[in-house]
Amino acid sequence: MITVQEHLSRIVDTVQRLPPIGLDLLDAQGCVLAQEVTSAVSLPGFRSSAMDGYAVYAADLAVASLAAPVTLPVVHDIAAGSTETLSLAAGASMRIMTGAPMPNGADAVIPVEATDGGLTRVVVSASVSLGEHVRQVGEDVAAGDLVMSDGMRLEPRQIALLAAVGTGAVMVTPKPRVAVISTGDELIEPGTRPGFGQVVDSNGLMLSAAVRSLDCIPFRVGCVPDDSQTFLSTIKSQLLGADAVITTGGVSMGAYDTVKAVLSSVGTMRFDKIAMQPGMPQGFGVLGQDQIPVFTLPGNPVSALVSFEVFVAPALRLMAGRPQHETSMVTAVAAHGWAVPAGKVQFARVVLSRVSSHNGSAHVAAIAGFQGSHALGSLAAANALAVIPADVTRVRAGDQVSCHPLGPILEVS
Ligand code: AMP
Ligand code: MG
Repeated sequence: MITVQEHLSRIVDTVQRLPPIGLDLLDAQGCVLAQEVTSAVSLPGFRSSAMDGYAVYAADLAVASLAAPVTLPVVHDIAAGSTETLSLAAGASMRIMTGAPMPNGADAVIPVEATDGGLTRVVVSASVSLGEHVRQVGEDVAAGDLVMSDGMRLEPRQIALLAAVGTGAVMVTPKPRVAVISTGDELIEPGTRPGFGQVVDSNGLMLSAAVRSLDCIPFRVGCVPDDSQTFLSTIKSQLLGADAVITTGGVSMGAYDTVKAVLSSVGTMRFDKIAMQPGMPQGFGVLGQDQIPVFTLPGNPVSALVSFEVFVAPALRLMAGRPQHETSMVTAVAAHGWAVPAGKVQFARVVLSRVSSHNGSAHVAAIAGFQGSHALGSLAAANALAVIPADVTRVRAGDQVSCHPLGPILEVS
């Protein structure tokens, strides 16, 4: 038996960030930048108006007020997109729109709201300070600035900045493509009502969905029977196109545990018992010419999901160039006591809420229901895993427990 940490360390020490590829900006959403981006331009690239109003000399309006308005001639109209080079003389104004280039000489914009909106002459009833409502060249980004570093995740906000400085395509770490193979003679395709002795391949859909939730690319291969030749040829073909392979089932002590039997002496595959519940039987290694990481997870659905969260997700994030962990653990108070196994880390399905009252708020964890490793009801009801260390022998009501969120935390008041 090895510890959760030992197995995780072996995995994270093995996997590597994927080699970069070039993608158009929008296609790169969710990927991590694999280059630096330096701006060739300044933003704003020209002095422009921040308001719809009138470009003026601030000094001309020094005494303007509601009680003593100042009238200025309007000598030109400047729309956004204008490419004219214009100069304003003191004592006059030009009507200007947001984002339009400022005429030379003008040093402020008086917003239209402080005027009568006149077209040939404008009555201004407020003063304006020097530079007010004028966007200066480079106040956002200066030409030559490093605007984004290697390793930055491209979310909508980062895509906007890269687009604004003129970038069309970028080098990124691609999203890992993950093949999901379910093994077991009892498995039938989702969408079918199971008959006697049959089990729907819920793992295949669950893990494909989990891969997608992680912003990686799943490929559900489907169900493979407990037959050595079929399994071997299936996994071999997946090693050609996938960046990682996940299998479920066939890794425990049963007579037909094909995955373990077939892969035990292949590549760097190693099968271990991990001191955890659920999820004890695990296999991991790299296979094939491209050294593809292969995760062989147990077949019980809860064991498979816990294994994915604890071992596969950190690896896929690292392959994608992201941090191993992206969400923090949440400390909660146990709503009641529950039994824990001796000598193993327990991953208990819990409902995690943040309970607010007049004297503050606290996180509370309550058992989500029947905790069998095959129990999908409590898995679907849970929004977190309470992680109870191996040396804890009992959780009592009021104990602090550390929780790994699986989804949004409930807000209760
Ligand atoms: P195994 O790890 O192959 O011994 O399977 C353990 C349990 O998980 C058995 O009850 C299987 O029927 C069940 N199981 C295995 N694979 C799947 C799957 N893909 N979807 C749902 N349940 C499964
Ligand atoms: Mg099986």
